Amino acid sequence: MRTIIKNIDCLVTCRGSHIKKGKEMGDAGIITNGYVVIDGDSIAAMGEGEGYKEYLTPGGTVIDGTGKTVTPGLIDSHTHVVYGGSREFELPLKLAKVGYIDILNAGGGILSSVKATRKASMNELVSEAAKRLDLMLTHGTTTIESKSGYGLDTVSEIKMLKVNRELDKSHPVDIVSTFMGAHAIPLEYKNDREAYIRLIIEEMIPQVKKENLADFTDCFCEEGVFSIDETRRILNAAKAAGLRIKLHADEVVSTGGAELAGELKAVSAEHLVAASLKGMEAMAANDVIAVLLPTTSFYLMLGKYADARKMIELGVPVALATDCNPGTSPTESLQTVMTYACFGLRMMPEEIINAVTLNAAYAVGREKEIGSLEVNKKADIVIFNAKNLNYLIYHFGVNEVDIVIKDGKIVVRSGLKC
Ligand SMILES: [Zn+2]
Repeated sequence: MRTIIKNIDCLVTCRGSHIKKGKEMGDAGIITNGYVVIDGDSIAAMGEGEGYKEYLTPGGTVIDGTGKTVTPGLIDSHTHVVYGGSREFELPLKLAKVGYIDILNAGGGILSSVKATRKASMNELVSEAAKRLDLMLTHGTTTIESKSGYGLDTVSEIKMLKVNRELDKSHPVDIVSTFMGAHAIPLEYKNDREAYIRLIIEEMIPQVKKENLADFTDCFCEEGVFSIDETRRILNAAKAAGLRIKLHADEVVSTGGAELAGELKAVSAEHLVAASLKGMEAMAANDVIAVLLPTTSFYLMLGKYADARKMIELGVPVALATDCNPGTSPTESLQTVMTYACFGLRMMPEEIINAVTLNAAYAVGREKEIGSLEVNKKADIVIFNAKNLNYLIYHFGVNEVDIVIKDGKIVVRSGLKC
């Protein structure tokens, strides 16, 4: 089965043989008047002009790309998409300027999602998360990372990771699974945090590994959550068990999380709003990817965004993600994140598209299959109703997706799931 997309006004390939950093982030490999040929589930040919004609076959599908921008399927490299309940009741607290850590200490925030997630059955969690995945897909996202961390006991953490596995099987969006038992200290361990850390290291990590339920481990390294020393212990244990590591680092206060990410050679450090210069340098020196989450900065009303310009200048590879979660970034739309990356992080359109495609693919360890439009890569492709890449970011607050192709098949048409 062959599909050809021809006469594409703006074909954004994001091609590259390595992760993009520094000035390379500003090159998205754009081809004007381009074409893409898809055979089965992968890209068979691409180029510019009339070159597609030699691939025309009777019975094949031909899509006209006039007036369209075509990109690789978007990759959301940081989400908490599996959870019970919702937290709109926190809005008045936010407006009364009660801080995130204070809401957490009052038993709200993460801990109220933990209560709802523990109570929910696996089927309930699957069906709630599948609705969010539908929204992601219709907004152009074809692969996501999904973290556990609303269970905070062994049974519930394993349940969340099994939800990831089930969604990966049953939904067109691909799921990369991350174990995040170290998302918060659960209430019942409030006065014995050491016992909870031992539970993570001695019971949860071995079980996650035994059942092969995750590729990554993440730890929330932040004032009032897990300290630098605790994070180091947890992530070293995960590494020793053969899991790759990520950190939530320096989201609100700089505690040296970015420096630790460099020291541990983590795949990525995420948030980084308060990262120090030394931390950013440590990340650059160790090729740690910065996964930036500008809608979270917006939603927390921090009045401050991560210093993306400094990171790019220092050569830190930057990716962007939604942080889709019930408290601090309840959105499924990477298009929204792209707008905030432009106006909050002051990133340029080509930097932004690289950050939600090729660099995001590296952040989830799938760079060999996805993240750019290149021959032999998977045909995960989005066709946007935008005449060029700048337009896609300039026109905001609406869904610009026309067609989404996943594994070579059209799964979204006119912005609606088929
Ligand atoms: Zn997060």
